[in-house]
Amino acid sequence: MATRPRHVRQVRFAELGEAGQSRIARAHVAVVGLGALGSVAAEALARAGVGKLTLIDRDFVEETNLPRQVLYTEEDAREGTPKAVATERALRAIDSELELRAEVADLAPSSIDRILAGAQAVVDGTDNFSTRYLLNDWSLERGVPWVYGAAVGGSGLAMAVLPGDGPCLRCIFPEPTPPELTPTCETSGILGTVSGMVALCEATEALKIVSGRVDAVVRGLQQVEAWRGGTRIFAAERDPACPACVLGERPYLRGARGDSSAVLCGRNSVQITPAAPLRLDLGAMAKRVPSLQKHSPFLIRFLAEEHPVTLFADGRAIIGETTDAAVARTLYARYVGG
Ligand SMILES: [Zn+2]
Repeated sequence: MATRPRHVRQVRFAELGEAGQSRIARAHVAVVGLGALGSVAAEALARAGVGKLTLIDRDFVEETNLPRQVLYTEEDAREGTPKAVATERALRAIDSELELRAEVADLAPSSIDRILAGAQAVVDGTDNFSTRYLLNDWSLERGVPWVYGAAVGGSGLAMAVLPGDGPCLRCIFPEPTPPELTPTCETSGILGTVSGMVALCEATEALKIVSGRVDAVVRGLQQVEAWRGGTRIFAAERDPACPACVLGERPYLRGARGDSSAVLCGRNSVQITPAAPLRLDLGAMAKRVPSLQKHSPFLIRFLAEEHPVTLFADGRAIIGETTDAAVARTLYARYVGG
Protein backbone atom coordinates (compact mmCIF):
# COMPACT_ATOMS: atom_id res chain seq x y z
CA MET A 1 0.00 0.00 0.00
CA ALA A 2 1.39 3.38 -1.02
CA THR A 3 1.84 5.78 1.87
CA ARG A 4 -0.06 9.05 1.84
CA PRO A 5 1.68 12.30 0.86
CA ARG A 6 1.03 13.93 4.24
CA HIS A 7 3.25 11.34 5.96
CA VAL A 8 6.29 11.97 3.78
CA ARG A 9 8.50 13.13 6.63
CA GLN A 10 7.57 10.20 8.82
CA VAL A 11 8.38 7.86 5.91
CA ARG A 12 11.75 9.57 5.59
CA PHE A 13 12.47 8.70 9.24
CA ALA A 14 14.59 5.64 8.51
CA GLU A 15 13.42 3.60 11.52
CA LEU A 16 9.92 3.54 10.00
CA GLY A 17 10.33 4.01 6.25
CA GLU A 18 7.67 3.04 3.69
CA ALA A 19 7.19 -0.38 5.23
CA GLY A 20 6.62 0.93 8.74
CA GLN A 21 4.27 3.67 7.62
CA SER A 22 2.25 1.19 5.54
CA ARG A 23 1.81 -1.00 8.60
CA ILE A 24 0.76 2.03 10.65
CA ALA A 25 -1.88 2.87 8.03
CA ARG A 26 -3.34 -0.65 8.33
CA ALA A 27 -3.16 -0.74 12.12
CA HIS A 28 -5.91 -0.60 14.71
CA VAL A 29 -5.08 1.00 18.06
CA ALA A 30 -7.47 1.54 20.96
CA VAL A 31 -7.06 4.40 23.41
CA VAL A 32 -8.73 3.76 26.75
CA GLY A 33 -9.47 6.97 28.63
CA LEU A 34 -9.42 10.28 26.77
CA GLY A 35 -8.30 12.63 29.49
CA ALA A 36 -4.90 14.27 29.90
CA LEU A 37 -2.99 11.23 28.60
CA GLY A 38 -5.48 9.77 26.16
CA SER A 39 -6.38 12.92 24.28
CA VAL A 40 -2.73 13.69 23.57
CA ALA A 41 -1.97 10.08 22.62
CA ALA A 42 -5.05 9.83 20.40
CA GLU A 43 -4.12 12.99 18.53
CA ALA A 44 -0.53 11.80 18.04
CA LEU A 45 -1.69 8.41 16.72
CA ALA A 46 -4.22 10.00 14.37
CA ARG A 47 -1.68 12.46 12.99
CA ALA A 48 0.82 9.61 12.59
CA GLY A 49 -1.73 7.93 10.33
CA VAL A 50 -2.95 4.95 12.38
CA GLY A 51 -5.69 3.68 10.09
CA LYS A 52 -8.23 2.74 12.71
CA LEU A 53 -8.68 4.14 16.19
CA THR A 54 -11.13 3.02 18.85
CA LEU A 55 -11.66 5.87 21.32
CA ILE A 56 -13.04 4.91 24.71
CA ASP A 57 -14.07 7.18 27.54
CA ARG A 58 -16.88 7.11 30.09
CA ASP A 59 -16.84 10.79 30.99
CA PHE A 60 -17.85 14.17 29.59
CA VAL A 61 -15.80 17.34 29.07
CA GLU A 62 -15.53 19.87 31.92
CA GLU A 63 -13.84 23.25 32.06
CA THR A 64 -11.06 22.00 34.37
CA ASN A 65 -10.02 19.54 31.64
CA LEU A 66 -9.07 22.28 29.19
CA PRO A 67 -5.52 23.00 30.50
CA ARG A 68 -4.40 19.45 29.63
CA GLN A 69 -6.90 17.74 27.37
CA VAL A 70 -5.84 19.12 24.03
CA LEU A 71 -8.73 18.09 21.80
CA TYR A 72 -11.51 19.84 23.74
CA THR A 73 -12.97 23.31 23.57
CA GLU A 74 -14.97 25.63 25.82
CA GLU A 75 -18.02 24.69 23.81
CA ASP A 76 -17.47 20.99 24.61
CA ALA A 77 -17.31 21.91 28.30
CA ARG A 78 -20.47 24.04 28.09
CA GLU A 79 -22.30 21.26 26.25
CA GLY A 80 -20.93 18.48 28.46
CA THR A 81 -19.98 16.55 25.32
CA PRO A 82 -18.82 12.98 26.01
CA LYS A 83 -15.06 12.91 25.58
CA ALA A 84 -15.19 9.99 23.13
CA VAL A 85 -17.59 11.93 20.90
CA ALA A 86 -15.57 15.15 21.13
CA THR A 87 -12.36 13.25 20.36
CA GLU A 88 -13.86 11.54 17.32
CA ARG A 89 -15.07 14.91 16.03
CA ALA A 90 -11.68 16.58 16.56
CA LEU A 91 -9.73 13.75 14.94
CA ARG A 92 -12.08 13.62 11.96
CA ALA A 93 -11.27 17.28 11.32
CA ILE A 94 -7.56 16.41 11.44
CA ASP A 95 -7.75 13.38 9.11
CA SER A 96 -11.01 12.54 7.37
CA GLU A 97 -9.64 9.27 5.96
CA LEU A 98 -9.16 7.53 9.31
CA GLU A 99 -11.63 4.97 10.60
CA LEU A 100 -12.71 6.24 14.00
CA ARG A 101 -15.00 4.59 16.52
CA ALA A 102 -16.16 6.39 19.66
CA GLU A 103 -17.24 4.32 22.66
CA VAL A 104 -18.94 6.26 25.46
CA ALA A 105 -18.43 3.44 27.90
CA ASP A 106 -16.59 2.13 30.89
CA LEU A 107 -14.22 -0.73 30.21
CA ALA A 108 -15.59 -3.62 32.26
CA PRO A 109 -15.05 -7.39 32.27
CA SER A 110 -18.39 -7.79 30.49
CA SER A 111 -17.58 -5.29 27.72
CA ILE A 112 -13.82 -5.38 27.20
CA ASP A 113 -13.76 -8.11 24.52
CA ARG A 114 -16.35 -6.32 22.42
CA ILE A 115 -14.86 -2.84 22.85
CA LEU A 116 -11.24 -3.80 22.16
CA ALA A 117 -11.97 -6.41 19.46
CA GLY A 118 -9.41 -6.27 16.68
CA ALA A 119 -7.05 -3.80 18.37
CA GLN A 120 -3.35 -4.56 17.82
CA ALA A 121 -2.25 -2.32 20.67
CA VAL A 122 -4.01 -0.51 23.50
CA VAL A 123 -2.86 2.79 24.99
CA ASP A 124 -3.66 3.47 28.65
CA GLY A 125 -5.19 6.87 29.25
CA THR A 126 -6.99 5.83 32.44
CA ASP A 127 -6.51 7.23 35.90
CA ASN A 128 -7.14 4.16 38.05
CA PHE A 129 -5.58 0.84 38.89
CA SER A 130 -8.67 -1.31 38.55
CA THR A 131 -9.04 -0.48 34.84
CA ARG A 132 -5.29 -0.88 34.28
CA TYR A 133 -5.30 -4.31 35.94
CA LEU A 134 -8.31 -5.25 33.81
CA LEU A 135 -6.38 -4.15 30.71
CA ASN A 136 -3.33 -6.09 31.90
CA ASP A 137 -5.40 -9.28 32.41
CA TRP A 138 -7.07 -8.87 29.00
CA SER A 139 -3.77 -8.18 27.25
CA LEU A 140 -2.10 -11.29 28.70
CA GLU A 141 -5.15 -13.45 27.97
CA ARG A 142 -5.60 -12.25 24.37
CA GLY A 143 -1.93 -11.68 23.51
CA VAL A 144 -2.40 -7.99 22.63
CA PRO A 145 0.27 -5.50 23.80
CA TRP A 146 -0.70 -2.45 25.82
CA VAL A 147 1.16 0.63 26.97
CA TYR A 148 0.81 1.77 30.59
CA GLY A 149 1.02 5.46 31.41
CA ALA A 150 0.49 7.60 34.49
CA ALA A 151 1.20 11.20 35.44
CA VAL A 152 0.76 13.15 38.64
CA GLY A 153 2.38 16.31 39.98
CA GLY A 154 5.40 17.05 37.77
CA SER A 155 6.38 13.51 36.79
CA GLY A 156 5.06 10.42 35.10
CA LEU A 157 5.68 6.83 34.05
CA ALA A 158 5.25 4.82 30.87
CA MET A 159 5.86 1.18 30.02
CA ALA A 160 4.90 -1.13 27.18
CA VAL A 161 3.62 -4.57 28.20
CA LEU A 162 4.36 -7.21 25.57
CA PRO A 163 2.52 -10.44 26.47
CA GLY A 164 4.95 -13.33 26.77
CA ASP A 165 7.95 -11.04 26.45
CA GLY A 166 9.12 -9.20 29.56
CA PRO A 167 7.25 -7.88 32.58
CA CYS A 168 3.57 -7.04 32.89
CA LEU A 169 2.07 -4.32 35.06
CA ARG A 170 1.62 -6.64 38.04
CA CYS A 171 5.31 -7.59 37.91
CA ILE A 172 5.94 -3.93 38.75
CA PHE A 173 2.88 -3.16 40.89
CA PRO A 174 1.61 -6.52 42.21
CA GLU A 175 -1.33 -5.00 44.09
CA PRO A 176 -3.11 -1.65 43.90
CA THR A 177 -1.42 0.73 46.31
CA PRO A 178 -3.76 1.77 49.14
CA PRO A 179 -5.62 4.93 48.09
CA GLU A 180 -4.45 6.85 51.16
CA LEU A 181 -0.80 6.28 50.08
CA THR A 182 -1.31 7.09 46.43
CA PRO A 183 -0.82 10.64 45.21
CA THR A 184 -3.56 11.54 42.75
CA CYS A 185 -4.38 14.52 40.58
CA GLU A 186 -6.86 15.35 43.34
CA THR A 187 -4.25 15.56 46.11
CA SER A 188 -1.08 16.53 44.23
CA GLY A 189 -2.41 18.34 41.21
CA ILE A 190 -0.80 17.89 37.84
CA LEU A 191 1.38 19.99 35.60
CA GLY A 192 -0.34 20.25 32.24
CA THR A 193 2.82 19.58 30.27
CA VAL A 194 3.90 16.36 31.99
CA SER A 195 0.82 14.40 30.98
CA GLY A 196 1.53 15.39 27.38
CA MET A 197 5.12 14.17 27.64
CA VAL A 198 4.06 10.82 29.09
CA ALA A 199 1.27 10.44 26.51
CA LEU A 200 3.72 11.01 23.65
CA CYS A 201 6.03 8.34 25.11
CA GLU A 202 3.05 5.97 25.17
CA ALA A 203 2.02 6.83 21.60
CA THR A 204 5.61 6.31 20.43
CA GLU A 205 5.73 2.81 21.95
CA ALA A 206 2.38 2.00 20.31
CA LEU A 207 3.70 3.17 16.94
CA LYS A 208 6.74 0.92 17.32
CA ILE A 209 4.47 -2.04 18.08
CA VAL A 210 2.10 -1.58 15.14
CA SER A 211 4.81 -0.61 12.64
CA GLY A 212 6.54 -3.95 13.20
CA ARG A 213 9.36 -2.52 15.30
CA VAL A 214 8.75 -4.36 18.57
CA ASP A 215 12.54 -4.71 18.67
CA ALA A 216 12.74 -0.96 19.33
CA VAL A 217 10.24 -0.90 22.22
CA VAL A 218 11.82 0.53 25.37
CA ARG A 219 12.42 -2.36 27.78
CA GLY A 220 11.74 -1.07 31.25
CA LEU A 221 9.83 1.62 33.04
CA GLN A 222 10.35 5.11 31.62
CA GLN A 223 10.19 7.89 34.16
CA VAL A 224 9.59 11.38 32.85
CA GLU A 225 10.53 14.26 35.16
CA ALA A 226 9.03 17.37 33.62
CA TRP A 227 9.72 19.83 36.41
CA ARG A 228 13.16 18.66 37.50
CA GLY A 229 14.00 17.64 33.95
CA GLY A 230 15.16 14.35 32.51
CA THR A 231 13.98 10.91 31.50
CA ARG A 232 15.20 7.73 33.15
CA ILE A 233 14.65 4.12 32.22
CA PHE A 234 14.42 1.69 35.12
CA ALA A 235 15.22 -1.90 34.30
CA ALA A 236 12.06 -3.95 34.77
CA GLU A 237 12.05 -7.71 34.77
CA ARG A 238 9.41 -10.35 34.94
CA ASP A 239 8.63 -11.26 38.55
CA PRO A 240 8.99 -15.06 38.76
CA ALA A 241 6.06 -15.03 41.20
CA CYS A 242 3.86 -12.62 39.21
CA PRO A 243 0.24 -13.65 39.75
CA ALA A 244 -0.76 -12.44 36.27
CA CYS A 245 1.88 -13.19 33.63
CA VAL A 246 3.56 -16.15 35.39
CA LEU A 247 0.81 -17.80 37.43
CA GLY A 248 -1.91 -16.96 34.91
CA GLU A 249 -4.44 -15.51 37.34
CA ARG A 250 -7.01 -13.17 35.74
CA PRO A 251 -9.10 -11.89 38.65
CA TYR A 252 -9.83 -8.53 37.05
CA LEU A 253 -10.92 -10.02 33.73
CA ARG A 254 -13.19 -12.50 35.48
CA GLY A 255 -14.74 -9.67 37.42
CA ALA A 256 -13.77 -11.19 40.75
CA ARG A 257 -12.07 -7.94 41.60
CA GLY A 258 -12.59 -4.38 40.53
CA ASP A 259 -15.11 -1.85 41.73
CA SER A 260 -18.55 -0.95 40.64
CA SER A 261 -18.05 2.45 42.19
CA ALA A 262 -14.96 4.58 41.76
CA VAL A 263 -13.96 7.97 43.07
CA LEU A 264 -12.97 10.01 40.02
CA CYS A 265 -9.57 11.64 40.10
CA GLY A 266 -9.71 15.39 40.59
CA ARG A 267 -13.48 15.50 40.27
CA ASN A 268 -15.03 15.35 43.75
CA SER A 269 -17.29 12.76 42.10
CA VAL A 270 -18.08 9.07 42.29
CA GLN A 271 -18.98 6.89 39.33
CA ILE A 272 -21.50 4.08 39.75
CA THR A 273 -21.41 1.32 37.15
CA PRO A 274 -24.12 -1.34 36.92
CA ALA A 275 -22.91 -4.94 36.93
CA ALA A 276 -23.86 -5.23 33.26
CA PRO A 277 -24.43 -2.34 30.85
CA LEU A 278 -28.10 -1.25 30.62
CA ARG A 279 -29.97 0.32 27.73
CA LEU A 280 -31.82 3.12 29.42
CA ASP A 281 -34.54 5.11 27.73
CA LEU A 282 -33.07 8.51 28.57
CA GLY A 283 -36.22 10.28 27.36
CA ALA A 284 -38.31 8.38 29.89
CA MET A 285 -35.73 8.89 32.64
CA ALA A 286 -35.66 12.63 31.91
CA LYS A 287 -39.37 12.83 32.75
CA ARG A 288 -39.09 11.21 36.16
CA VAL A 289 -35.91 12.69 37.65
CA PRO A 290 -35.93 15.85 39.78
CA SER A 291 -34.49 19.17 38.56
CA LEU A 292 -33.53 18.10 35.05
CA GLN A 293 -30.70 20.32 33.81
CA LYS A 294 -29.64 18.71 30.56
CA HIS A 295 -30.90 16.10 28.12
CA SER A 296 -28.80 15.05 25.12
CA PRO A 297 -28.71 11.87 23.03
CA PHE A 298 -25.86 10.65 25.25
CA LEU A 299 -26.82 11.63 28.77
CA ILE A 300 -29.16 13.40 31.14
CA ARG A 301 -28.11 15.58 34.03
CA PHE A 302 -30.19 16.38 37.07
CA LEU A 303 -29.87 17.56 40.64
CA ALA A 304 -30.50 14.97 43.34
CA GLU A 305 -30.48 16.41 46.85
CA GLU A 306 -27.87 19.04 45.90
CA HIS A 307 -25.72 16.46 44.06
CA PRO A 308 -25.40 16.88 40.28
CA VAL A 309 -26.00 13.47 38.68
CA THR A 310 -25.00 12.68 35.10
CA LEU A 311 -26.65 9.52 33.84
CA PHE A 312 -25.52 7.76 30.66
CA ALA A 313 -27.58 5.46 28.45
CA ASP A 314 -25.57 2.43 29.60
CA GLY A 315 -26.72 2.99 33.17
CA ARG A 316 -23.54 4.54 34.48
CA ALA A 317 -23.87 7.63 36.60
CA ILE A 318 -21.40 10.20 37.83
CA ILE A 319 -22.51 11.71 41.12
CA GLY A 320 -20.92 15.03 41.98
CA GLU A 321 -20.16 16.90 45.19
CA THR A 322 -19.11 13.76 47.03
CA THR A 323 -16.24 11.30 47.27
CA ASP A 324 -18.26 8.96 49.48
CA ALA A 325 -19.21 5.83 47.52
CA ALA A 326 -22.00 5.02 49.98
CA VAL A 327 -23.65 8.41 49.45
CA ALA A 328 -23.34 7.97 45.69
CA ARG A 329 -24.80 4.44 45.78
CA THR A 330 -27.72 5.64 47.87
CA LEU A 331 -28.54 8.44 45.44
CA TYR A 332 -28.20 6.05 42.51
CA ALA A 333 -30.60 3.56 44.05
CA ARG A 334 -33.05 6.32 44.93
CA TYR A 335 -33.17 8.09 41.57
CA VAL A 336 -31.99 5.60 38.96
CA GLY A 337 -32.83 2.22 40.42
CA GLY A 338 -31.31 -0.69 42.29
ZN1 LIG B 1 3.70 -10.07 35.41
